[in-house]
Amino acid sequence: MGIATVNPATGETLRTYEAHGPDEVERRVAAAHEAFRQYRTTSFAERARLLRAAATLLDEDTEDIARTMTVEMGKPIVAARAEAAKCAKAMRWYAQHAEALLADEHPSEHDVQDSGADRARVHYRPLGPILAVMPWNFPLWQVIRFAAPALMAGNTGLLKHASNVPRTALYLGDLFRRAGYPDGCFQTLLIGSREVEGVLRDPRVVAATLTGSEPAGRAVAAVAGEEIKKTVLELGGSDPYIVMPSADVVRAVKTAVTARVQNNGQSCIAAKRFIVHQDVYDDFVERFTAAMNALTVGDPLDEATDVGPLATERGRADLEELVDDAVRRGATALCGGRRPDEPALRNGWYYRPTVLTGITPEMRIHREEAFGPVATVYGVRDADEAVAVANDSPFGLSSNVWTRKDEEITLFVRDLEAGGVFVNGMTASHPALPFGGVKRSGYGRELAGHGIREFCNATTVWQR
Ligand code: NDP
Repeated sequence: MGIATVNPATGETLRTYEAHGPDEVERRVAAAHEAFRQYRTTSFAERARLLRAAATLLDEDTEDIARTMTVEMGKPIVAARAEAAKCAKAMRWYAQHAEALLADEHPSEHDVQDSGADRARVHYRPLGPILAVMPWNFPLWQVIRFAAPALMAGNTGLLKHASNVPRTALYLGDLFRRAGYPDGCFQTLLIGSREVEGVLRDPRVVAATLTGSEPAGRAVAAVAGEEIKKTVLELGGSDPYIVMPSADVVRAVKTAVTARVQNNGQSCIAAKRFIVHQDVYDDFVERFTAAMNALTVGDPLDEATDVGPLATERGRADLEELVDDAVRRGATALCGGRRPDEPALRNGWYYRPTVLTGITPEMRIHREEAFGPVATVYGVRDADEAVAVANDSPFGLSSNVWTRKDEEITLFVRDLEAGGVFVNGMTASHPALPFGGVKRSGYGRELAGHGIREFCNATTVWQR
């Protein structure tokens, strides 16, 4: 399938799109390059005015764009509206804070003199046109969390969105144009993944950011490496969710369900591996299984739906293979482990919320990311074993720990191999908090000051 909107709730192809050809891609890359020459000199106040205008438009468009996202990739409509609101909030956050985040940095008087200068500072300048290769799971948010800081820093953006969310991709290009951004500041390229290399090798494109799978990240980073271009990679995750005996188990279970099935289970920062102390294991598993089993699976446009379909048929097949492999090797499905039976859901790419126990290291799901509503549960004897199980993963995006003991929190923060440790809550991104991972989850950070500085030239100004 090329670039197309296919409703995951029905399997129906609603519209196919013709990809931009070489001439159109050239025109857009040239426009991004040309726009940068002027846009880089604009004031923070002007950039903030434009970004706030885009946020206002997004607020006005919420219902339409939420429906578009739901129809393109199947997220529940309530979550789609929340995603649009979160984007507008992040845009306003960067409009307000970018200037301070990119303010000149001044070394100490002693260090300035020691360097032989009368004055010295670090000055942040934009880099140029940045290519953003983005996934379908949060089709607005993943783009905005790149675009808001990049545009506030004075960069221009070229978006290559996932091929199954073209309507959202076109909306985004249009949003910035309608907000009054100069031509070329932010554009959508309707291209397939094979065309990414050519764009990335173009000398006018100076850097790239990618959110998506490991193979996609590797492919883009390899090309960027050859071209000596900066990349930020936000790849998969298989986040641990550790529950210790001092935890409030009822709250831990309630949050665990949300953390696992948000976005129909297709979130990089979803908690995926539940690592539970033996003292509360039975209690946790019983409550968690009951709650997962009670979720309403159904039409994502229905306000009452908890879990909609997976975004693609391939995605559901991958998830089924992971679960089948685990069960074949001895895992137990306490609930789910199959597609729903309801005739109304038969044509969509649905999968029932699933809880698996008895996981062993040779099962694929122990090491691979389950991108759907499937939880694995492990029992452990103590905090050290919890850390060992948590770190026994190629990924290191975020982590969640439930405990009331300070010494355990200290240990988890020290030892968990992850870009985040969320204590007594679930991982969620916020504009003021850096976001990103270690190990195979990628490198670099998005959001906060860390995110906006990724695509800046930290220029040393030394003056006598
Ligand atoms: P992909 O990683 O394939 O897609 C993400 C983006 O990368 C899309 O824009 C895609 O374009 C592009 N892309 C894919 N391959 C290449 C390549 N070789 N060179 C350049 N760009 C490329 O995600 P999938 O949709 O295939 O999902 C597969 C798995 O990836 C999921 O099951 C999940 O494990 C993980 N994933 C993680 C996400 C996260 O948030 N970290 C988000 C999405 C997926 P196109 O659509 O045209 O192929």
